[in-house]
Amino acid sequence: MADYDYDVLVIGAGPGGYVAAIRAAQLGLKTACVESRETLGGTCLNVGCIPSKALLHASELFEEAHSGALAQFGIKIEGASLDLGAMHAQRIEAIKGLTGGIEYLFKKNKVDWLKGHAAFIAADTVQIGERAVRAKNIVIATGSSVSTLPGVQVDGKRVVDSTGALELAEVPKHLVVIGGGVIGMELGSVWLRLGAKVTVVEYVDQILPGMDGEVRREATKLFKKQGFDLRTSTKVTGVETTDAGVTLTVEPAAGGNAETIEADVVLLAVGRRPNTDGLAIDKAGLSVNSRAQIDIDHDFRTAVPGIWAIGDVVPGPMLAHKAEDEGIAVAENIAGQVGIVNHNVIPSVVYTMPEIAGVGLTEEAAKERGEIRVGKFPFMANSRAKTNKDTDGFVKIIADAQTDRVLGVWIVSSLAGTMIAQACQAMEFGATSEDIAYTCHAHPTHPEAMKEAAMAVRGKPIHI
Ligand code: FAD
Ligand code: NAD
Repeated sequence: MADYDYDVLVIGAGPGGYVAAIRAAQLGLKTACVESRETLGGTCLNVGCIPSKALLHASELFEEAHSGALAQFGIKIEGASLDLGAMHAQRIEAIKGLTGGIEYLFKKNKVDWLKGHAAFIAADTVQIGERAVRAKNIVIATGSSVSTLPGVQVDGKRVVDSTGALELAEVPKHLVVIGGGVIGMELGSVWLRLGAKVTVVEYVDQILPGMDGEVRREATKLFKKQGFDLRTSTKVTGVETTDAGVTLTVEPAAGGNAETIEADVVLLAVGRRPNTDGLAIDKAGLSVNSRAQIDIDHDFRTAVPGIWAIGDVVPGPMLAHKAEDEGIAVAENIAGQVGIVNHNVIPSVVYTMPEIAGVGLTEEAAKERGEIRVGKFPFMANSRAKTNKDTDGFVKIIADAQTDRVLGVWIVSSLAGTMIAQACQAMEFGATSEDIAYTCHAHPTHPEAMKEAAMAVRGKPIHI
């Protein structure tokens, strides 16, 4: 240890990095975490998961109060109005509380927070401002940034990325979202609920890439009902900003006649790319793959001994909980323990209303691997959902036809993000659909739909 400043130096304090640092310190390793942002928590806490959920929750409450939807429960609200300043203030308060919480956890666990930008000067040394810091193990957890689109200039006013879309000072009359992925549908939902007309321009023929086909179709139907104008199989060929707004030129993705769309604000949401620029990884003997990611092995080791990588900067879904689990596992591996992440069981959730959640294989992917059985149960037949007038969506369970082992679970429901945890645990334990079907579920609850979908795998649900 004499020659090293630290046993573990983590670069980046997002959900991957801060969790890795805390776990490494808990395991008795002398640990520091470098962060170039003013606050800890990375994309997720500062400009991602948390602020988007703060606005999603608040905009949902606004819509409930404003639209008259509560009248069906005997609640009349007259004159509900929007205080966007106050809504933004509660978003900022949520960020402040949680980023401050990480600072507290660093102090509690004796993790040194090194403020500044880190760049490699050798495989075991990084430069942070004036200081060179040497560590026995370095974990790269530098996350990702917004992908750009040629010809589309993000100016932060008329053309914004996700960070700008979280901070709009007024509700745009017409918001055009380029990209019908998770960010497009979540942030599009926020501004739609607050009164904007929202058009989504998506290059491929379906929104929400990577999700089960039936779920994507159901989501499309529900979003259209909510008022989204979804233009799939459409490409943007030009974006021109004027003082009055933005003019987009679009045409069919397969080619055809161009048309223009006038917008007040355009949100660019076509994906994210790993943060490896400015890290000088070549000085450490490392390089990136064709997708600008850092390749790792099963244990999160890079090609250079002593350098590890986790989170959005490595291959796999760009999700905070995946980064967190990798953070724990990498620290345990560094400490000589066995840190494992089961990448077959990483849930993904779209926090729209209803929420859309999935884990494991889509029906399409499962069919390619062999014979399957599928069980589905609609919330229309779930007693609690019916009572709450919350009947949109279904639970779908995909099981191996021979072994009955659950291969994938997909849920469209107001509670999908919460309900998917049960499916993850079942799959982690290697459950069959029969295991779920014979597990007692409390009545009346939405999760009973999971039990009935499991019963439907073998053709015997009760309530339909
Ligand atoms: P990051 O959180 O990106 O953190 C990396 C940190 O490293 C950053 O703070 C950066 O400043 C720092 N850094 C980079 N380079 C250096 C350097 N050279 N020196 C020092 N510091 C450096 N995921 C979910 O699971 N659920 C959600 O609901 C969700 N919502 C999202 C909403 C939005 C709008 C966005 C943009 C993303 C969302 N995500 C969500 C994705 C999630 O934020 C990321 O998957 C997650 O933050 C990745 O964690 P990470 O630790 O790998 O990287
Ligand atoms: P995404 O990959 O989810 O969606 C991008 C969409 O843009 C795709 O549908 C793609 O087909 C489309 N697209 C690409 N190029 C296009 C073009 N030229 N014109 C029109 N459409 C185009 O990416 P995102 O929504 O930007 O989100 C980035 C990442 O952040 C995702 O990986 C996601 O996992 C993560 N995220 C997660 C959550 C969550 O878990 N709830 C929320 C927000 C973001």
